Amino acid sequence: MSAPLVLVINAGSSSLKYQLLEPDSGEVTADGLIERIGEPVSVITHEQGGSETVEELSLPDHGAAIAKALELFAAKGTDLAQVDLCAVGHRVVHGGRSLYEPTLIDQHVIDEIERVSPLAPLHNPPNLVGIEAAQALFPDVPQVAVFDTGFFHGLPDKSALYAIDREVSEKYALRRYGFHGTSHDYVSHRAAEFLGRDYASTNQIVAHLGNGASMSAIRDGRPVDTTMGLTPLEGLVMGTRCGDIDPGLLLHLNRVVGLSVDEIDHLLNKQSGLKGLCGENDFRSVTQMIEAGNADAKTAYDIYIHRLRRYFGAYLVELGRTDIISFTAGVGENAAGVRADSLAGLEGFGIAIDPERNAVRGHEPRVISTDDSRTTVLVVPTNEELAIARQAKALVAS
Ligand code: ADP
Repeated sequence: MSAPLVLVINAGSSSLKYQLLEPDSGEVTADGLIERIGEPVSVITHEQGGSETVEELSLPDHGAAIAKALELFAAKGTDLAQVDLCAVGHRVVHGGRSLYEPTLIDQHVIDEIERVSPLAPLHNPPNLVGIEAAQALFPDVPQVAVFDTGFFHGLPDKSALYAIDREVSEKYALRRYGFHGTSHDYVSHRAAEFLGRDYASTNQIVAHLGNGASMSAIRDGRPVDTTMGLTPLEGLVMGTRCGDIDPGLLLHLNRVVGLSVDEIDHLLNKQSGLKGLCGENDFRSVTQMIEAGNADAKTAYDIYIHRLRRYFGAYLVELGRTDIISFTAGVGENAAGVRADSLAGLEGFGIAIDPERNAVRGHEPRVISTDDSRTTVLVVPTNEELAIARQAKALVAS
C-alpha cells in the first residue's frame, strides 16, 4: 500500500500554488500554479508524471481554480477523491498572537484568521478563500493551517516590540511578527542536519531572498530576530516592496505629496523595491539590465546589497558567534553574485566565500565557504510545501 499523501495549498490574492506529495519521502506526485485568478484570462500550469500542462481559461475565483486543478489531476489519471489523502495543508500568512502552531482548522480557527486579517489584508483573505474551497471539495479530510508567523512567535520583546507608546501597541497588537517562518524553520533545520550539528546549540543566520525577502537570526535553535515586522513590508529591499524606510516618509507622502493611505500602500508594496528603483522586480531582468549598462539597475543592486550587509552586520553582532549562514529562495539559491557581494571582505569576521564552490549550481544543500572560514556558509534550497506537508501529517497523526 502506498503511503498517505498531503495536498498543500498556498492561496495568494490572485494566485494559487498546490502540490500533492508524500511527506516522509518528499516525493511529489503533482504540483501546479494558477495565476491571474479573477482576471479575464487565468493561466494554470500543472506538472505531473514528468509532463507539464499549461492552459489559459477563465477562473473567476479560487473555488473554480481548485476545481480546475482537480480536473487536471483526473486527466492525468489521479482521482483525488480516491487517493489516500491524510490532510490538506494550508499556508496561512498571519496567525496573530494566538495561532502559531500547525492547527486543525475548525470554525473557531477560521474566525480567528479572519479577525487578524487587518494585519495581513493582502494575504489572509485569499488564504481563507483557499481553505473554504478545499473544505467544500474535501469535506472528510482534515484541513491544517501552518502559519508564516509561527516560527517567530517566541521572538524576545527586545526585537519584537516597536518603540512606540505601549498602550497603543498593546491595544492594537502592534508588534513585529515576522514572516516566511516556514522557510526559515525548514532551512535552519536542514542546514544543521546537513552539517551534522545539533540544532539546539547552533547559531545561524538565514537569508531568504525571493520576491519577498527576509533574514533571521537564530541563537541555540531559537529565533531571536528577523527583518520583517508587523507586516511583510519591513526589512530588506524586495522585488516590489521597499523594506525599511523612515516612517516620517509616510507622513510626508500623505501631508505634503497628498497621497491617500491606499495610494501609499500601493506605492510601498507594489511600486517600490527593485521595481521602483529600476522598473523591474525580477532579479534576472535586473541582472540583464546591469550587464547592458543600465545605471538605475546598478544602483538598485547596490541598494539591495547594502541593505543585506547592514542586516548581516546587525545579526553577526547580535549573535556574537555565528556557526552557519544559509542563503535560500530564488535569488539566494541562484544568484552567486549576491551571495559573494553581500559577504565580501568579511574575512576579519571569520567569513570567507570560496568562489569556485559559490559558482556550483544544484538542488541540494552545499557549502560555499572556504574550509578555514569560521562561519560555514551554505546554499540550502527551501521547500515550504514539504515543511507544511510534514507538519500537517504530524498533527493529524498525533
Ligand atoms: P517567491 O516564492 O517569493 O515568488 P522565489 O523564491 O521564487 O520567490 O524567487 C523569485 C526571484 O528569484 C525572482 O526575482 C527571480 O528573478 C529570482 N531568480 C530565479 N532564478 C534566478 C537565477 N537563476 N538568477 C537570479 N535570480 C533568479
